[in-house]
Amino acid sequence: MTVNETHDPSLRSWIDSANLPGCDFPIQNLPFAEFRRAGSDEPYRGGVAIGDRILDLAALRSRSLFEPSAQDALAACSEPTLNRFMSMGRDAASRLRGCLSAALRSEAACAATLQADLVAQADAEFALPASIGDYTDFYSSIHHATTVGRQLRPDNPLLPNYRWIPIAYHGRSSSIGVSGQQFHRPVGQRLPKGALTPVFGPSRRLDFELEVGIFIGAGNAIGTAIPIQDAERHVFGLCLLNDWSARDFQGWEYQPLGPFLGKNFATTVSPWIVTMDALAPFRLPFARPSADPQPLPYLDSPAVRAAGVLDMHLEVALQSAHMRAHGLPPQRLAASNFRHAYWTIAQMVTHHAVNGCNLRAGDLLGSGTLSGPLPTEAGSLLELTAGGTQEIALPAETRRFLEDGDCVVLRAWCERAGHVRIGFGTASGTVLPARELD
Ligand code: CA
Repeated sequence: MTVNETHDPSLRSWIDSANLPGCDFPIQNLPFAEFRRAGSDEPYRGGVAIGDRILDLAALRSRSLFEPSAQDALAACSEPTLNRFMSMGRDAASRLRGCLSAALRSEAACAATLQADLVAQADAEFALPASIGDYTDFYSSIHHATTVGRQLRPDNPLLPNYRWIPIAYHGRSSSIGVSGQQFHRPVGQRLPKGALTPVFGPSRRLDFELEVGIFIGAGNAIGTAIPIQDAERHVFGLCLLNDWSARDFQGWEYQPLGPFLGKNFATTVSPWIVTMDALAPFRLPFARPSADPQPLPYLDSPAVRAAGVLDMHLEVALQSAHMRAHGLPPQRLAASNFRHAYWTIAQMVTHHAVNGCNLRAGDLLGSGTLSGPLPTEAGSLLELTAGGTQEIALPAETRRFLEDGDCVVLRAWCERAGHVRIGFGTASGTVLPARELD
C-alpha cells in the first residue's frame, strides 16, 4: 500500500500511447479487465490496459516469462472472470504488478516479443471483470444524504444513525452490466403527488448516481470479522459505478425496508479495475469535524487517520439522442471527488463484516452517490434539479430527469504533483424506451 518503483514518475513504456500526457492508462496505472476481440467468439480473458492497448494476459502467460508466483497469478488472470485472481489477495496482485511494470517499461528486453500480445482497446469488447456474487450499496456522502434527506424530511434531513454507521442496503447483482449497457426504462408503481392510490407505468423520474465501485479481493470466512487495520488487504481495486435509480418508484416503495424496484433494474460499472496499489500515491488523511462523533474504535485506526481517504476526481456527463445525432459531445453535469465521502473504504469493509458476514472475492460494494459540498458537485439529477423543480440546460433541450436515448458517462482520475496522473476510463449507459405493456 506504499509508493514503490512501479509509481516512479520517470517510468516510460515502449507503447508510445501510454506516455502521452492525459492518458488514463500510463505504466503507473496497469488496471485489469476482462476482454476479447469485438465480434469474435474468443473466450474472455484478463487484460491490462497500457496506453490505448490491452496486454492479453492469457497470451502473456503462455510465454512463461515471469517467476512462478507471477505465472500462477497469470493463470488465474487467463480465466473468463477475475474472481480467482482477486481471491489470491493483495500480495499476489502486487507481485504481478511489479512483473508487468518491468515488462512494459521502455528498456524491457521482451518488448519485441510482447508486441504480438497487444490488442487495441478500440478493437475490444468487455465483460464484467468478475462474477459478482453479492452487491452492497453504501451511502457514504453526507452531502448527498443531507440534500436528499432535506427533500424528504425538511425538518430532519440527516437521521441520527448517519454519523455512527456506514449506512448501506443489499443490492442486486444480476442486473449489473459493463460500460455500454443499455436498458429499458423500468415500469412500476408510483404515487402521484396528492393521490391516495398508486399508478402503474414507466418511471417518470429516472436518474443516475455517480459512485465508485469497490471490488473485494481476498474474502473472510463466515463468522469472522475484518479488523480495520486489515480492511484494505481485502480490497482488490476500484471502478466507476452508476446506480441507475427510478426516483418515483423509490419514493413510494422505500418505507419500511429500503430500495427495491427503484434500483434493481440496472447498474453500470466501468470495465477497468484500478488496483489499490496503483492508487497508493493519491491518499489523504481522514479527519472528522470536531463537532461530529468520532468513529467507534472498531472503525478507527492510525492507518485510516493517516491515509484512509482517496483523492479521486469524478465527473458525470450526459449526451442526449439529439446531441448524438448532431455530433455533440457529452455535456458535463457535475464534478466531485471521493475525498468528500464521510466514510472510508476501510470503514465500509470492516463494518460490513463486523457481525461475521463473509465477503467473497468479486463481491462489489458501491460507495453511494459521491456528492461534494457544493451544489455543482451533486452526483444525481435529484440533487442537481432540486427534486425535479429546476431545469438543466442542454444544447437544444432541458432536463429534470433522464429521457429515452440519454447516455450517461462517468469518468474519474487521480492526479497529484510529483506523480503521473492515472484514469479509470469511462462507464457509460443508455436509456431505451420502456417496453410495450401488454
Ligand atoms: Ca446508490
